[in-house]
Amino acid sequence: MPELPEVETIVRGLNQAIIGRKIKSIDILVDKLFIGNKNSVINSKIIEVKRLGKTILIYFENNYLLHIHLKMTGQLIFVNKNQQFKIKNLKLKIPPTIKIVGGGHPDKKYDQPLPHKYTHIIIKFTDESTLFYNDLRKFGWMKILDSRIKNLESRFGIDALSEKLNSNYLSSKLSKRNITTKQALLDQSIISGIGNIYSDEILFCARILPDKKVGKLKPSEINNIVNFIPIVLNKSIDLGGTSRSDYLKIDGSRGNYLKYAYVYGRENEKCRVCNTKIKRIKIGQRSSHFCTNCQK
Ligand SMILES: [Zn+2]
Repeated sequence: MPELPEVETIVRGLNQAIIGRKIKSIDILVDKLFIGNKNSVINSKIIEVKRLGKTILIYFENNYLLHIHLKMTGQLIFVNKNQQFKIKNLKLKIPPTIKIVGGGHPDKKYDQPLPHKYTHIIIKFTDESTLFYNDLRKFGWMKILDSRIKNLESRFGIDALSEKLNSNYLSSKLSKRNITTKQALLDQSIISGIGNIYSDEILFCARILPDKKVGKLKPSEINNIVNFIPIVLNKSIDLGGTSRSDYLKIDGSRGNYLKYAYVYGRENEKCRVCNTKIKRIKIGQRSSHFCTNCQK
């Protein structure tokens, strides 16, 4: 599952690639992955691409939008026939005159000419460039929505990088809940965009044990969580996201965040701050990595 930094990286790539373009046709090869009337967005200019939590919003001039969730294994690849093809660390057999932008889950099975058997939606633009949606497991989706709907954000919880995410908001959402702090960070109806990797990293920086019940959090600890969420996520965006979570950057290269992770994926390795061995436990169904010395 991509987390916020990986989706943000893809959205920035799409903003460079598809603004101002118009869709000529949409080929839907697997019906269940596309919801709504595709004709709503044909021939209307794309004006903006935004991220909401872990989802992608493509806005059209005619007040429709295309809402995309890549889920576990989705991948968006933009190919512009007129530009130079540049891709690192990924051996795609594509003619060298084609440019690729986009990103998502990489897999050896995807390393073949596009479209291939895992390509389920093909969006062709009027200038002959193409956006391919590939998905090994077919859990992702695209939905046509009216861009004027008001409750889109409330359906997804406040975005982890939204200014509305402050201590008052988080305290009110956590009051009377009997869950661990790790579970609270993963709950997309509370904060949208944080997954397993960044919840571990945020809790390390905030010096809070992942299994601490939210009812036991002091106001200063809630402040710490709120303060470290943007610090950790923005650092990862700067590094191009993670590679372990298998997300590609715009140019197809892998993100670098995990090289710098404090605790995630570092079981039995030494804490970067105090040298204590990093521990891993399961909370709910999810692995949680932490330092018993640094986190209380
Ligand atoms: Zn430590």
